[in-house]
Amino acid sequence: MNHQELLRRIFLPIFVLFLTGCRVAQVESTLLPTAVPATVEFASLPPSAYERFDLDGDLYLRQIQAGVYVVTHEFPWAANSMIVEMADSTLVLVDTPYTPEATQAVLDWVQGRLGEREIVAINTGFHHDNLGGNSYLLEAGIPVYGSSLTVELLEERGDQMRAQTLGWLEKPEYERYRQAHEALPYVPPDHLFPIDEGLELRFGAEIVQVYYPGPSHSPDNVVVYFPGRRILFGGCMIIGWNGVGNTTDADMEAWPDSVRKLSRFDFDVLVPGHGERLDPGLLEHTIDLLTQ
Ligand SMILES: [Zn+2]
Repeated sequence: MNHQELLRRIFLPIFVLFLTGCRVAQVESTLLPTAVPATVEFASLPPSAYERFDLDGDLYLRQIQAGVYVVTHEFPWAANSMIVEMADSTLVLVDTPYTPEATQAVLDWVQGRLGEREIVAINTGFHHDNLGGNSYLLEAGIPVYGSSLTVELLEERGDQMRAQTLGWLEKPEYERYRQAHEALPYVPPDHLFPIDEGLELRFGAEIVQVYYPGPSHSPDNVVVYFPGRRILFGGCMIIGWNGVGNTTDADMEAWPDSVRKLSRFDFDVLVPGHGERLDPGLLEHTIDLLTQ
């Protein structure tokens, strides 16, 4: 562990714990809403400072603002989705955990905490880490928004995606993931928009914008902007790790320019498809990785 890492992992969290009156040490299983201290600057906190709730060994949520949760499902690769409680109390789910079961578990947990809610879902692409939970959502009567291009790509490339995924899970220790990915229903979104037009949804006084900056990690990755909260869900086109990851469906030439277009948004939090960092610096980090 180098000096910076030591600071990030040990001293900063201790300092933040001290500042927030040990709020993050509260019992994790409590269902009572927990107010986030107003004095904390969200954007400047290290990832480990957010309050974390483990649902099971593969699945956990981090509360990054009041009513905003980044959901991480390690199945076995860690992937992020997000839940935002909007001004009119609707929950917006951006992407889903990999499986219908995990998606249900997350929504049940959040509603146990906040109360029964209307839910609206948005898929940011056709990969299983964007929409693996759709079958649960549609069975539960939850509208799922996605682009027409996402539907086309799922239809055209779904079989190939499944075959490739199973190929990555051949080791015996991956058996349970392999079985789950083999049986995973690939269900398209049911509320479609033309990708070039994007989408704007209103929830009381608050809006959500879906924007397509061009091809990137996949031809159909869109981003989801919450202007009232200065949060941009970048999804899989924003890289939160130190490697580019799966580029099977990527347009390596167009990807950096598509990322540059996201600087049009004002945000303090940038949620990548994978990785625990949530800071706006991920924009430059992604461009650096793609152009080095
Ligand atoms: Zn992904």
